[in-house]
Amino acid sequence: MATDDLITAITSLRTGRVGDHDRPHKPALLLAILGLAEQGRLLENRVSYGPELFALFRRYLLAVRTDSDTVNMLDPFWRLRTDGILEPVPRAGFEQAIAARSTPPSVTELREITEGSRLPDSLFQQMNDPIHRDRLRDAIVSRYFASHRSAIDQITQEERSIGECERQLEQTGDSTVADGAPEPVREQAFRRVVLRAYDYRCAACGLRVIVDDLALVEAAHLIPWAECRDDDPRNGIALCKNHHWAMDQYLIAPTPDAQPAWMVSRYLDDRIEGQREMLDLKGRSVLLPRESRFYPKRPALAWRRDRLLRH
Ligand SMILES: [Zn+2]
Repeated sequence: MATDDLITAITSLRTGRVGDHDRPHKPALLLAILGLAEQGRLLENRVSYGPELFALFRRYLLAVRTDSDTVNMLDPFWRLRTDGILEPVPRAGFEQAIAARSTPPSVTELREITEGSRLPDSLFQQMNDPIHRDRLRDAIVSRYFASHRSAIDQITQEERSIGECERQLEQTGDSTVADGAPEPVREQAFRRVVLRAYDYRCAACGLRVIVDDLALVEAAHLIPWAECRDDDPRNGIALCKNHHWAMDQYLIAPTPDAQPAWMVSRYLDDRIEGQREMLDLKGRSVLLPRESRFYPKRPALAWRRDRLLRH
């Protein structure tokens, strides 16, 4: 599609209407996909239905929605195909099922039958070009959200800062840039990088539960930020709320080894009812990130071990 045709396509979406109100979901999802591109997370033409996209979608939608608009990304993700914008990519054997299907599948089914969705090539290319990206965003905002322009600009600007911080942390581990950023930006960047590195799984018990963009796990600092001001992802570890709390209380800690395992405080006692499960962690391997560049760094692990032994 030529540029003008693209602009026409994204400004004539079949949004659905309630009374005199156009549903904001499809354009909000497009803003979210532009946000992914801005963060450098749309390197191939495949849009995945996942927590990163959902987080952006939620931010934009909450800024523009009315009370009658639920926070539902599945519908627009599926229905943008009817606008020629987002075409599901079928897994082998599911081509017919997808072609015949008009109503959205469940999230589980979506993952089962598709390998994400695809943008028209020209739109994908323009989304990855900063000048075109701004034009596309401007066209969406002017057409659908003119009265919310400043709120949207603020989100876009903040997401841009978070994205820059994330890149810095991921590529260099240098947290001095993050250190100078406003607290919400710094915290979000660290959280996102650590959770992605661990694929949203607790490094202790393996729990991995994601609802939309809400994950059960949290990004914990090995050496607390207040002590070291270090947001290097290798000073981070993903833990469920229980294990995060336990580590913060020095009840559990990873050993400072190349293949760290969990050690458990002598304060815990299996004769006390309710403590056995946490004691069972002793000696179990830490569930490490897929990429070794995000493995926790030795001094941070040693710090944790020493504190546990001292308490
Ligand atoms: Zn856990």
